[in-house]
Amino acid sequence: MRTCVVSDIHANLHALEAVLEAIDGEGADELWCLGDLVGYGPRPNECTRIVRERADVCLVGNHDLGVLGRLDLDLFAADAAASARWTGVELAEDARRFLESLRPEGTRAGVALFHASARDAVWEYVMTEDVAAESLVSSPEALTLVGHSHLALEFSLTGPVVRGSLAPEGTELELDGPDRRLLNPGSVGQPRDADPRAAYLVLDLDARRATFRRVPYPVERTQAEIRERGLPESLAARLEHGL
Ligand code: ZN
Repeated sequence: MRTCVVSDIHANLHALEAVLEAIDGEGADELWCLGDLVGYGPRPNECTRIVRERADVCLVGNHDLGVLGRLDLDLFAADAAASARWTGVELAEDARRFLESLRPEGTRAGVALFHASARDAVWEYVMTEDVAAESLVSSPEALTLVGHSHLALEFSLTGPVVRGSLAPEGTELELDGPDRRLLNPGSVGQPRDADPRAAYLVLDLDARRATFRRVPYPVERTQAEIRERGLPESLAARLEHGL
């Protein structure tokens, strides 16, 4: 089976549309989403409805839970909390119901899925080899996918040795070399690895291969929508730098 994996869409409709158009050309059987459909961005209802229609499996993320009132917004940075409050007011009933129905972890086709990490599906950031080691060991499956950090990353465990690095556009991995792998597709709607293009991952479970992809989108359209809605300027500015 061939699947495309997205995460951290953050209500960025133009980024999501660009990714879905690119994915249409990938010949994928399924689409998986690792959560954070909303928060930060200006188009929460459209993004939630599109993912509900298109995704075969979808997790809930910490920003989704914050918007739903199931996480304390005092735990969020100021701009994230402000956008979560705005989203909570804007969110339509059907979109809210869909987000309410989701869990932060799951398993699909023998692959373990977590929004954040295998130890803490909602909050823990997997960005270092030490933290990745804990997730690699505690995950129920040999292949684990996480989102949350907005960084396209790959970690592997071979015997006792953990290795990891950023996974820029075009990175291709053979899945069967190491004992275990943990991959983060990067973020569709708010990348933070200095590449502002929207990120997704192609996972070919038959060929045992993973490929990291990036696709450009009209950043200025999302920035204009953020400013029109009076959301924090920092959320618009960061998109063009991918930070
Ligand atoms: Zn996120």
